[in-house]
Amino acid sequence: MSEFDLIRDHFSGIGHRRADVAMAVGDDCALLRVPRGCELAVSIDTLVAGVHFLADCDPEALGHKALAVGLSDLAAMGAEPAWATLALTIPEADEAWLAAFSHGFARLATEQGVALVGGDTTRGPLAISVQVHGLIPKGTAVYRSGARPDDLVYVSGTLGDAGLALRLLEGGDPVSEFLLGRLEWPTPRIELGLALRGIATAMIDLSDGLAADLGHILEASRVGAEIRLAGLPLSEEVRDRVSASADWGLPLTSGDDYELCFCLPEQKREQMADVAGRLRIGIQVVGRIRKEPGLSCLLPDGSTWLPKRPGYDHFADAH
Ligand code: ADP
Ligand code: MG
Repeated sequence: MSEFDLIRDHFSGIGHRRADVAMAVGDDCALLRVPRGCELAVSIDTLVAGVHFLADCDPEALGHKALAVGLSDLAAMGAEPAWATLALTIPEADEAWLAAFSHGFARLATEQGVALVGGDTTRGPLAISVQVHGLIPKGTAVYRSGARPDDLVYVSGTLGDAGLALRLLEGGDPVSEFLLGRLEWPTPRIELGLALRGIATAMIDLSDGLAADLGHILEASRVGAEIRLAGLPLSEEVRDRVSASADWGLPLTSGDDYELCFCLPEQKREQMADVAGRLRIGIQVVGRIRKEPGLSCLLPDGSTWLPKRPGYDHFADAH
């Protein structure tokens, strides 16, 4: 199979057919029409075998996740997903692997209205970069920098499930279908991100753990926050684990949750509850923004929890 057969068979016409694509796969560039009055939101993420995923993981799940992590960034800005490009480095052209990968990617793309419009294919150690492009009406994007003292801090979904799944896999222990799903098939919270335009003062997606990611909001907004750990939304399995070992690092510093963390003023609390109800997405208030800088995490007994490490950082040990 040539490189061009591979692209034609597995990466052409993938995802949603969009009227705003003038040229997709097949020429030197993709040509895309950004509507007047919109800003283009762009983000790229790379997944490397052995670093972000196990090389022998399910290729269909990998195709899904490679796109999902990018869509999660769009969600965190309040952008509507539109287009994606895919740079794929593979050790060999394994037909079954490519078909499964492309299938996982395509299903999520179609579901979210995204067209795969181009990419690059090379041979080498397995690595996947996906660039996503989304649209935001001018002036409505939600930044990390807008949190204000007394704002409520929310998170969607539950925390630490993916981290627990990874820990169990690495230890060779059995993993429930629920936990594995949370690790391998994350759901980007696109609808919630869109609904939070005009409501949230600040927002970020949880890729590195609540402590680190909320930390980015606090730094960008020049504020601090107090989080009540008893109020964190946890699945039954993570809750059991935390009550057995008091390991709060699991929900606070493990990555890959791809939930949203956002802030809004108390007056919008009811409006927010209505939005979550309409979207059928679980959200929870976990704390409050305050003027004094820093993140303070209150344990159920009133003492303060301090992280052993703040979250995943690729270069933390590199110097
Ligand atoms: P060029 O030499 O101009 O970079 P390529 O041979 O790399 O072109 O790619 C040919 C066409 O196929 C381009 O339109 C490119 O965007 C697309 N393409 C290549 N690899 C992929 C991929 N993995 N997924 C989607 N489109 C791809
Ligand atoms: Mg190329």
